[in-house]
Amino acid sequence: MMAAWVQRGFGGPDVVSREEVRVPVPASDEVLIRVAACALNRLDLLQRESALVGGFRLPHIAGMDIAGIVVASGGVEGESLLGQSVVLDPVVTCGACAWCARDLPGFCPTLRTIGSSRDGGFADYVTAPVRNCHLYDAESLSAVDMASVPVASVTAWRGLLGAGKLEPGETVVIPGAGSGLGTAGIQIARARGARVIALASGSDKCMRARELGADVAIDRSAGDWVGAARAETSDLGADLVWDHVGGAFLQQAIDACAIGGRVVMSGTTAGNDSTIRNTSIFHYGRTLIGHGGYTRHDMQATIEAYLCGKLRAVIDSVWDVTALPDAMARLESGNFFGKIVIRSV
Ligand SMILES: [Zn+2]
Repeated sequence: MMAAWVQRGFGGPDVVSREEVRVPVPASDEVLIRVAACALNRLDLLQRESALVGGFRLPHIAGMDIAGIVVASGGVEGESLLGQSVVLDPVVTCGACAWCARDLPGFCPTLRTIGSSRDGGFADYVTAPVRNCHLYDAESLSAVDMASVPVASVTAWRGLLGAGKLEPGETVVIPGAGSGLGTAGIQIARARGARVIALASGSDKCMRARELGADVAIDRSAGDWVGAARAETSDLGADLVWDHVGGAFLQQAIDACAIGGRVVMSGTTAGNDSTIRNTSIFHYGRTLIGHGGYTRHDMQATIEAYLCGKLRAVIDSVWDVTALPDAMARLESGNFFGKIVIRSV
């Protein structure tokens, strides 16, 4: 048996409780991982309130960003991983369909995501296919740092480089600078050689965004961020605006964009419906770009960027797994900078 945080209904914190459940058994192409650390994501909160991802079912164990040690293998394929430290790509696919063959795992008909549509890392153990395991050197990198990497960083990587095709010397606007997406995005854009205008709420987060490498940090709570961003570009607008917010933010992103510039649409945290002025696109020759699903190549490249030190983990706080409700409350408060991570005790 093992301890796990099990969700048995929808609603507030009390629908999740710490229980004794059976240790999962890995399939023949899977391994069993003892969870060392697991980072929180907003989807963990959202799915506590309602099922959002196809395939979600109760009871559910959340936690998508997992680092740990391989302790058992379901077949010969995983035996070489025994005893190794791994960080998991949470997207589990068949590996054989036409979409998998095109490296578009997000469209695989059997897609399941560890921690959102199959059991995740808020538990002592989790199973994952061998091909979802990425090795890291536990001597030089901590499980907490590695657990902070996959979901947010690959989303930023995909949004800025894959979909946005950010080029050196371009100016990019990155909202939500204190979120996992923001802290990863600022670093990825800087490493690409772009000029970064970060958006954050409050002077403290703005200061930390600048410390992380943002050239400019605009306090969204101070009012007209579009005007402030345009002023920072001599009123030319940004070459790329990364909209991982959605809702009413989309029109603001378009308005902050240069003539001929691009807006990448990567998220809907502020709502799935946006109203935009058509002229703000066609008159100015701007382009709206859909984020799409990340590829396995995106994930590999993102993790390698951390392994070689090109990017670094930004950790808001670390909590013992027994304090998961407190960690979730911090996520819900919005009062954090970087990833919130739980570690096993
Ligand atoms: Zn497939």
